[in-house]
Amino acid sequence: MKSMVILGSTGSIGTQALDVARLRNFTVKALTSNSNIDLLEKQIREFKPEIAAVADENRAAELRIKVADTDTKVLGGEEGICAAAQLDADKVLNSIVGIAGLKPTLAAIEAGNDIALANKETLVAGGELVTTRAKEKGVAILPVDSEHSAIFQSLQGSPGKQSVKRLILTASGGPFFGRTRDDLKDVTVEQALKHPNWSMGAKITIDSATMMNKGLELIEAAWLFDMPADKIDILVHRQSVVHSLVEYVDNSVIAQLGVPDMRVPIQYALTYPERYESPAKQLRLEDWKTLTFEQPDYDTFSCINLCRQAITKGGVYPAAANGANEAANKLFREGKIKFLDIADAVSGVLDSTEFLPCDSLENILLADSRAREKVHEMFGC
Ligand code: NDP
Ligand code: MG
Repeated sequence: MKSMVILGSTGSIGTQALDVARLRNFTVKALTSNSNIDLLEKQIREFKPEIAAVADENRAAELRIKVADTDTKVLGGEEGICAAAQLDADKVLNSIVGIAGLKPTLAAIEAGNDIALANKETLVAGGELVTTRAKEKGVAILPVDSEHSAIFQSLQGSPGKQSVKRLILTASGGPFFGRTRDDLKDVTVEQALKHPNWSMGAKITIDSATMMNKGLELIEAAWLFDMPADKIDILVHRQSVVHSLVEYVDNSVIAQLGVPDMRVPIQYALTYPERYESPAKQLRLEDWKTLTFEQPDYDTFSCINLCRQAITKGGVYPAAANGANEAANKLFREGKIKFLDIADAVSGVLDSTEFLPCDSLENILLADSRAREKVHEMFGC
């Protein structure tokens, strides 16, 4: 592994991926953002990529002027980001947030680039299409999400799928663990943004508070590991030390452990199958003393089972659930709806969605936009 492209380089995962690139001396061929050009300019001056792409065309034009003294070519819009994904590179790390990451993932696959995937919405909304295209093109999709990296690591050396009984995803439980629905009626955005263990972008932090994140991860795991949803379980593990587990048919359970630090799964996705030193702290189990595991409260955190229903129904239901959540998550962050409205939005959209196969980008994007419209209609905003 020598060269990489980072999509979403200005975000939480993107900046940590640049820490790894710096440490491992990777050549960074392209960097992208949505609108943050100040940080992108700093990254351009340090990493000297061939291409920098900004989704917002006006901001791209501003950046073009700012970095006119460098050799970096600045592209704009979704096409610019897809062009970055298609550069000749050993890996494309996709750390864009939301369904905006789907087309760039497909573009990377078309170009035959292996992908380190943080953008879980790619697989939630477009799992069938993405995994089919990746197989056709012989493209590897390596998980960056910590739970999926843990499962991937725990599957190394496994004789095959027939030996796996179930996958167990761990969940921190988020800031509202132990609360009842009633307690959650009036929680604020600020409270929801206080994640106990991880520092992440705003959207995924809210997804962790609703536990929609775990539902999305269940769907992500189903596609990444080709497992039916009924063979994927969830356990709340407050300490975020055991990142996930694989139970084999002989009832042996293999897990991956470590202090919570995303630079470990990011680096593993980039250097697989090799392992190198990492900036993460060493795990000293004696310092933790007690690790706890328990069933999630599925009534309070109803998003988990809504996602389970969506993947079980198949077709574009997961894309609809994802679109509804993206829209509602944003409305909540803007102070326009309440915390519990997010789960109601996902549930309402799933009830009104009609089956369509998930084998074309058109169907996926149609389900996504219908879901968003429905959410805005539900809350009159
Ligand atoms: P952030 O919000 O911190 O960063 C998102 C990145 O995507 C930024 O570079 C942002 O640019 C860019 N972006 C946002 N919208 C668009 C768009 N419409 N088109 C192109 N680029 C866009 O998110 P995170 O880093 O937290 O998360 C990224 C992905 O990784 C998500 O799918 C998340 O679920 C997943 N993930 C994150 C983890 C974490 O620890 N953060 C852990 C596991 C998974 P700009 O800065 O200009 O807004
Ligand atoms: Mg995760």
